[in-house]
Amino acid sequence: MINPETCIDCSLCAPECPADAIFADNALPADQSHFIELNAELAEVWPVITQTNSPLAEADTWVDQGDKLQFLER
Ligand code: SF4
Repeated sequence: MINPETCIDCSLCAPECPADAIFADNALPADQSHFIELNAELAEVWPVITQTNSPLAEADTWVDQGDKLQFLER
């Protein structure tokens, strides 16, 4: 999640994401517009990442799987 209140829209993160999961809000595909509100909500409650971590062991299994929102745990 990216906090929309603190993001300065520099666009550096999008090309660095190995899963191509980051979009500028003005470049978000129309069928994913619901993620703008979800991102803002979860950015307020999920912890801020302050250091680089290795990907989870199952990351490659999930990277291309669609409709992952059904598995979101809040
Ligand atoms: S790197 Fe991404 S999240 Fe961070 S300020 Fe730039 S656009 Fe925003």
